[in-house]
Amino acid sequence: SKGGCEKWEKVEEILKVFGEECETSIEKLKSVAEAMVVEMHNGLENEGGSMLKMLISFVDNLPSGDEKGLFYALDLGGTNFRALRIQLGGKEKGVVKVETEEVSIPPHLMTGSSHELFDFIATSLAKFVSSEPEEFRPLPGRKRELGFTFSFPVRQTSIASGTLIKWSKGFNIEDVVGEDIVGELTKSLEKVGLHMRVTALINDTVGTVAKARFSNQDVIAGVILGTGTNAAYLEHVNAIPKWHGVVPKSGKMVINMEWGNFRSSHLPLTEYDQALDAASLNPGEQIFEKIISGMYLGDIVRRVLLKMAEEAEIFGDTVPPKLRIPFILRTPDMSAMHHDSSSDLKVVGKKLKDILEIDNTPLKVRKIAVELCDIVSVRGARLAAAAIFGILRKLGRDTVKDGDKQKSVIALDGGLFEHYAKFRTCMESTLRELLGDEASGTIGIEHSNDGSGIGAALLAASQSQYL
Ligand code: ADP
Ligand code: MG
Repeated sequence: SKGGCEKWEKVEEILKVFGEECETSIEKLKSVAEAMVVEMHNGLENEGGSMLKMLISFVDNLPSGDEKGLFYALDLGGTNFRALRIQLGGKEKGVVKVETEEVSIPPHLMTGSSHELFDFIATSLAKFVSSEPEEFRPLPGRKRELGFTFSFPVRQTSIASGTLIKWSKGFNIEDVVGEDIVGELTKSLEKVGLHMRVTALINDTVGTVAKARFSNQDVIAGVILGTGTNAAYLEHVNAIPKWHGVVPKSGKMVINMEWGNFRSSHLPLTEYDQALDAASLNPGEQIFEKIISGMYLGDIVRRVLLKMAEEAEIFGDTVPPKLRIPFILRTPDMSAMHHDSSSDLKVVGKKLKDILEIDNTPLKVRKIAVELCDIVSVRGARLAAAAIFGILRKLGRDTVKDGDKQKSVIALDGGLFEHYAKFRTCMESTLRELLGDEASGTIGIEHSNDGSGIGAALLAASQSQYL
């Protein structure tokens, strides 16, 4: 076994190298933002022109806040799906009431046949609709209207239709790939006798923009920082060469960037990131997502700790076996360690013991663990800020021109943004740093809660046939 001094030198060395490789100077962040802007242009130029898909959402008409009536939404994107009913009262009253029901999807339906999944969804929705208050029944000849958030990559063919490009997140139903999602759902709705019209098929980022826009007309983009990461923003139609349709009245179109798949030689990547990517379900893909989002941050910390255990015996002369298990250290646990404010880092000690079965860690070791959480979250947060700065630059809103104080608001949602306070504050301060004082005064960040549910219902309303 290694001598005390030699061991600590090695630990310090691994920490120092990792910290240096994760370094994100303002210059580097500006290069990342610049590369993002170039890829945004490429992706808007033609289909398949960039690693950024820049998907056209067909949403050219965001909620104005005047919408009124009763609308429904479905949110499908994980092991649960949710049905929502929302009552809108127009400018004065806004969102009057939201009711939701969450249903877990039986695992056999995630890999079964298309009609089984959609029949299940339609049946659950029918049950939910049956609790609708009498006074909200649609008038004769009218149908209830539904917004559908389907958080898988979709090639839209209109605001209310689109074909599935591929499944992910444990779903694999061969016969849906290439099919129109709304067509499949509509068939099942008819089968169960539910008279409903799907008026919007959207991604959760698009829902986040819509939800925030309902109450704040300065909103121009929506960003998800959760299990994964992605963004959507409002683009001028004349800046979308690949759009060959008619120019909408608004002159604008919401673009779903799919920015999780961004990569660039300017990204600070380490040996740990490369190993994580190689061991992932989608090697070579979603590189930006893999250094920023909640699914991965904890595992990067684990990988560095493992190296310190193997090469510097930080936990003694055997490597704790649990430390070898991928994803055992989750981002919420990392966040709890990072926010530990006790003088003896009690929380860190408890996490190391409970999760990794490492007993009685000395304070010195706990401090190293906190340092790693800091390095990994700071890199992620600063890169997220750089990407937001990229959107603002693309739109020419990163500087104040001729004293124009036009406001721009970015709506954010997702568990990482909501619950990891140090990540959030670092991201916000980095964005201010990138913008400078003057432009910072015109840019706002706001939390847009449940855009994937409420946003879909609001879009169903703004696309309504009856308003
Ligand atoms: P999704 O992105 O799957 O729609 P959420 O937006 O709720 O779901 O985000 C969930 C993710 O947020 C989790 O996978 C986790 O990585 C992250 N997260 C949740 N709670 C915390 C926390 N306390 N600290 C840090 N990250 C968290
Ligand atoms: Mg979500």
